[in-house]
Amino acid sequence: SRWVYSFGGGGADGDASMKNLLGGKGANLAEMSSLGLPVPPGFTVTTEACVHYYANGKQYPAELAQQVSDGLATIEKITGKLFGNVANPLLVSVRSGARASMPGMMDTVLNLGLNDETVEGLARLSGDRRFAYDSYRRFIQMYSNVVLDLEHHMFEEILDDHKDRLDIHVDTGLSADDWAGVIKDYKAAVLEQLGRPFPQDAQEQLWGAVGAVFASWMNDRAKFYRRMHDIPEAWGTAVNIQSMVFGNMGETSATGVAFTRNPSNGDNRLYGEFLINAQGEDVVAGIRTPQSLTKIAREEMGDTVPSMEEAMPVVFAQFKSVVETLERHYRDMQDIEFTVEQGKLYMLQTRNGKRTAKAALKIAVDMAAEGVISKTEAINRVEPASLDQLLHPTIDPSAQRDVIATGLPASPGAATGKIVFDSDAAEKASAAGEAVILVREETSPEDIHGMHAARGIITARGGMTSHAAVVARGMGRPCVSGAGDVSIFPKEGLFRVRGREFKAGEIITIDGSTGEILMGSPKMIEPELTGDFATLMGWADEVRRLKVRANAETPLDAKTARGFGAEGIGLCRTEHMFFDDTRIAAVREMILADDEKGRRAALAKIAPFQKADFVELFTIMEGLPVTIRLLDPPLHEFLPHTEEDVAAVAQATGLDAGKLLRRAKELHETNPMLGHRGCRLGVSYPEIYEMQVRAIIEAACDIAKSGKAAPIPEIMHPLVAKGEEMKYLRDLTDRTAKAVLEEQGIAIEYTVGTMIELPRAALRAGDLAANAEFFSFGTNDLTQTTFGISRDDAGKFLGAYIDKGIFDKDPFVSLDQEGVGDLIRIAAERGRAARPDVKLGICGEHGGDPASITFCESVGLDYVSCSPYRVPIARLAAAQAAL
Ligand code: PEP
Ligand code: MG
Repeated sequence: SRWVYSFGGGGADGDASMKNLLGGKGANLAEMSSLGLPVPPGFTVTTEACVHYYANGKQYPAELAQQVSDGLATIEKITGKLFGNVANPLLVSVRSGARASMPGMMDTVLNLGLNDETVEGLARLSGDRRFAYDSYRRFIQMYSNVVLDLEHHMFEEILDDHKDRLDIHVDTGLSADDWAGVIKDYKAAVLEQLGRPFPQDAQEQLWGAVGAVFASWMNDRAKFYRRMHDIPEAWGTAVNIQSMVFGNMGETSATGVAFTRNPSNGDNRLYGEFLINAQGEDVVAGIRTPQSLTKIAREEMGDTVPSMEEAMPVVFAQFKSVVETLERHYRDMQDIEFTVEQGKLYMLQTRNGKRTAKAALKIAVDMAAEGVISKTEAINRVEPASLDQLLHPTIDPSAQRDVIATGLPASPGAATGKIVFDSDAAEKASAAGEAVILVREETSPEDIHGMHAARGIITARGGMTSHAAVVARGMGRPCVSGAGDVSIFPKEGLFRVRGREFKAGEIITIDGSTGEILMGSPKMIEPELTGDFATLMGWADEVRRLKVRANAETPLDAKTARGFGAEGIGLCRTEHMFFDDTRIAAVREMILADDEKGRRAALAKIAPFQKADFVELFTIMEGLPVTIRLLDPPLHEFLPHTEEDVAAVAQATGLDAGKLLRRAKELHETNPMLGHRGCRLGVSYPEIYEMQVRAIIEAACDIAKSGKAAPIPEIMHPLVAKGEEMKYLRDLTDRTAKAVLEEQGIAIEYTVGTMIELPRAALRAGDLAANAEFFSFGTNDLTQTTFGISRDDAGKFLGAYIDKGIFDKDPFVSLDQEGVGDLIRIAAERGRAARPDVKLGICGEHGGDPASITFCESVGLDYVSCSPYRVPIARLAAAQAAL
């Protein structure tokens, strides 16, 4: 079989479509060569040869030796040089090249083919002895390290000794004879270390390097990188053997890297750097400061060193045209490596360039406008999750970072403020115009006002779906949760991290996109939703099938959501409305009441507030659907717990302190998430749900009567498990609504549905559908109840599960499609069998996760609902899922 593919001299055996066989680098070298671009000739040993090598006890395929020899002969023919020949030596580079780019993980050898004799040939050919000896010593150093496994520092020490003795401080100060002395010592050191001389035979050198590149596929770095990026070990790497070109042959030689467009902002302008008289590794090593490619870039930098455009105008003009050809050909922004050898341009690599979200957006929209790609391609060119970078302020990448501690990246964006330790203090400071960061052990619904007032939130405990994380994402507040190294002492007004102490009032910054907590206030970049953003979103909306709604309950969140393009509210958590200062007293009174009569009296106080909330929400949503979930959390969450808090509440409300404490103890549950919560509250205290249904329907009637767009309230019952339960709740809802509508004397449309948050609900979806017109998958609870993993405590051990590869991703972040997903599929099927037009949505955190959205499309849900700031991400992900 065939293991070797040649390229160069205006043609190639392979092409860009053969990445799997030739690796990314090899395939693109072949493609460039076929395009007639100046590529130094060479050949690629296939990834299949590597796979064969490992499958056969590290033996090369039998035909490989002959094919490599033929490949070399082809290079020799094109270049007119001969491998190993003293008079006219061919030198080659040997580089790895996997299917997926694995930057810097594997090995490379340059200048191969040099020995004590060919170095003289190179000196004669180039007319530059110094250059030839410098190349030879570089080769010995690199080859000894990569192939012979000798330590780098051994060679550095020898070089330093020479420099000391000569009293020279920079490599460029060494003469040809100086280098010859260094080479002598290098070779002596190799002999001493290995007991055999540095290989002089070019063929032996070549096979040593091929073996080393194959071996580097299995080095620890490469293995680690593969695991991180899901690259299968079975792919293997290709090896590219290519005629050397030299950017270090004097002032008419150079080497550089370029992007066809700016990878950080997307500007359609050549961007990059180059160095005159240098080899590739010099640019990366940062020893000399690289120069600009274009005159305009140089002027903008205020640089005086001439740009490539100015220093080598003829080559630059050629380079510019090559670069334009490449971008047009690949129809994407290219990341390019090139070398100029004595005035002649060579292309060494091209690939699709990595870019920021901002650049991705601009490049996609620009290229579609230029007619280079279709709108569909443009939609697929932007990673939905990356839009996050654009929707929140971020820390300037060039800013200094003093990282105090790291937790989970619970809610993206960055925020700076003074440290506060409780929610009241946060609210007070914020009212006084101060920016604060709320630092808590963990948060509870009682902290809503503090979280809202704060610019950002830190918790020492809790995972990605802890209360703090969910609420912060909903509000668009940056949040770092589960920062386990942070020990908080609220009474002393400080927190400690590994010996450092931070006091209330000190300024800190959090980066909710990385989970970092930083000292001070690094420079920020504000979000800008540019025209490109709006354009691409518009294209996405044209093609997506899934509707996108938002989880929102406050007017501000609802407005934000609409601003981001939400098509309704998929989850309004009514309990958040109970915590408002003006209502919490009545809520507590209701909880303390001895009987139904007492509860009804307290509920009557809450009712007008609830109704007003709904009127406001319906008004903002202008006729779009609004799903309102009736009360869900266990009642103890509304009560104070410590004696101190109880005393304070008693004083503020006039409620009896003893009774408060007794009731708090009575309501205490061991597993509150599995306890007296959800519709179980509605079954045991129907008057609560009656009040809420009444408030919803009355609000809808008010809107309808005022002539505004009539809302479509969707009344949703949480944590339902049984058909009988649903029937009871349905009857309660209809009975209450009917009474209101009769009082009001008008007809209003509304629907009744359920969340699917329990495995039993999913399995018996047909029973539920008999009385539910819609299902909304509450995948936070459904994940919790399917795995039997508490969403509040998962953070303590999920890390170990992810490290050990038992979980790929946190199942509270990205839907477990096999397990939880199977339940969703079953529920959708059984629900539709019982009620063909049952409306299906998802409102757990997964509703804003691109991979989970793809799954939702595949099971044909009608909509996804997510926090307001994730609405654009969901719109784009839904579009990609539909294509
Ligand atoms: C859910 O469980 O997925 C859900 C949306 O409800 P909550 O997060 O309020 O429990
Ligand atoms: Mg839930």
